[in-house]
Amino acid sequence: MTQSEEIEHIVKHVEVFRYMPDRKLVQIILNLKNEPGALAEATVSISSWGLNILYCSAYAANEHGFADIIAEQRKDCDIISVQQKLESLHSVNKANIKQADQGLIVDSDSYPVMLSSGQSAVILRKELIASMLKSTRDAFGSGGEVIVYQQGKASGKNEALWLIKVLGEERLINNVQYLLRIFGAFGWGKAELVSFNMQPFKGIIRFYDSFECSVQSDRPYSQFIRGFISGLAETIFGIKAKCSENKCRAAGDSYCEFEISADVQCSL
Ligand SMILES: [Zn+2]
Repeated sequence: MTQSEEIEHIVKHVEVFRYMPDRKLVQIILNLKNEPGALAEATVSISSWGLNILYCSAYAANEHGFADIIAEQRKDCDIISVQQKLESLHSVNKANIKQADQGLIVDSDSYPVMLSSGQSAVILRKELIASMLKSTRDAFGSGGEVIVYQQGKASGKNEALWLIKVLGEERLINNVQYLLRIFGAFGWGKAELVSFNMQPFKGIIRFYDSFECSVQSDRPYSQFIRGFISGLAETIFGIKAKCSENKCRAAGDSYCEFEISADVQCSL
């Protein structure tokens, strides 16, 4: 893999816990001044005291900056003095440091989980959500598929209302290709628009690495994402939509492919 490819496919890393039983780990929570170079001053200082930073999440809001750092002690150092030295820096308002318990740090001090749009979120492992959907289908058969589809559709409508509120309806309608990046941003899979037409309403969406379709099936498997796309389109475009999955990763294709069109052109 070349350097440019590595940058293009950077992982969105969310720290939940870190377990390194043979290392001395510390977690450092910083309240910083919101000014250029504040994070640099803190991290360079931390490194100079023998701490190797393994993870850092940082953001700024109003007059403050915040950083959540997990570091490994490479040299013996007094944690109390590190805290005092951090708080003596120009850019640091407050520093809290915790040492790992037998190599384990569970990052519950960064709470709640917030999206950059200002809404709270929960993090669930991909396999956990997939197993929830699968258990509904296993328990209720074809009725379960309808339930999962309706759950997806309701979620898509809710997501569309949020996107309209944050970004505005016109921006969404005029930037469908860009809108689809939201799936990748949330880690659901990578979506791309193959074709799109407003009159008559019709779109082909290709979906790579769908979390829902990482199983084996003898036919297209997606119900949740298929419903989600329907709910999203109906709310944003004011149509009655129908959505079919014509190719599916679960059925042996290299991607899932959805066709969405207007069932009956109307204002909802
Ligand atoms: Zn699929």
